[in-house]
Amino acid sequence: MLYRYEPHMHTFEASGCGRSTGAEMAEMHKAKGYDGIIVTDHFFNGNSAVPYDLPWEEKIDLFCKGYENAKARGDEIGLKVFFGWEFTYAGADFLTYGLDKTWLKKHPEIMDMKIYDYCDFVAECGGFIVHAHPFRQYNYIKKITLIPDNVGAVEIINSSHFDEKMNDRAKWYAESFNLPVTAGSDSHDAKNLLGGGISVEKPLETIFDYIEAVKKRSIAKLHNKDFINK
Ligand SMILES: [Zn+2]
Ligand SMILES: [Zn+2]
Repeated sequence: MLYRYEPHMHTFEASGCGRSTGAEMAEMHKAKGYDGIIVTDHFFNGNSAVPYDLPWEEKIDLFCKGYENAKARGDEIGLKVFFGWEFTYAGADFLTYGLDKTWLKKHPEIMDMKIYDYCDFVAECGGFIVHAHPFRQYNYIKKITLIPDNVGAVEIINSSHFDEKMNDRAKWYAESFNLPVTAGSDSHDAKNLLGGGISVEKPLETIFDYIEAVKKRSIAKLHNKDFINK
């Protein structure tokens, strides 16, 4: 038996482009047969829904609302909900896992770091970086940024891509640099879940189980749009 997880998704509470609340996202993933989700809202350097001009700690509290609402609903309905975020640099997106709200509150300096310093700092603190959709080419992205020495893994399937070449190139990149791989939907709307993510043989109990599965290359299956209604 395989267990299904969505490691890349957004909420209305924290992402400017999020269409559904954390609770709605949790409910719909459960309804579609997922065992868990990782909430990865856009951080303040991306399409954030959090007002710019508040004190740092207040911003972090607002940023975590989507996750917290998803987690509360997930606990009620039996869906695992883990925390992460999507950190942006010049149109490139770095999914960050394994660190929490307390860590974020302590480290406002991450906003001023160079992207490779940020990635190394996250790793030093026990976190893990996945380069999301590295070959996405949409008009808001002005260049392709690759930092293979500073990321832990590559998202080689992003189910929101309409052109599969973007995924094929990400796969080539990961293979070429021998980087571990994972997949994610990048869903923003509970009414339109994109149906990607991963399957593993053992249920994930913590975010570190996910990180280990990626690092050890023990993910059983990567999915692209095939979870929906199955
Ligand atoms: Zn978005
Ligand atoms: Zn995303």
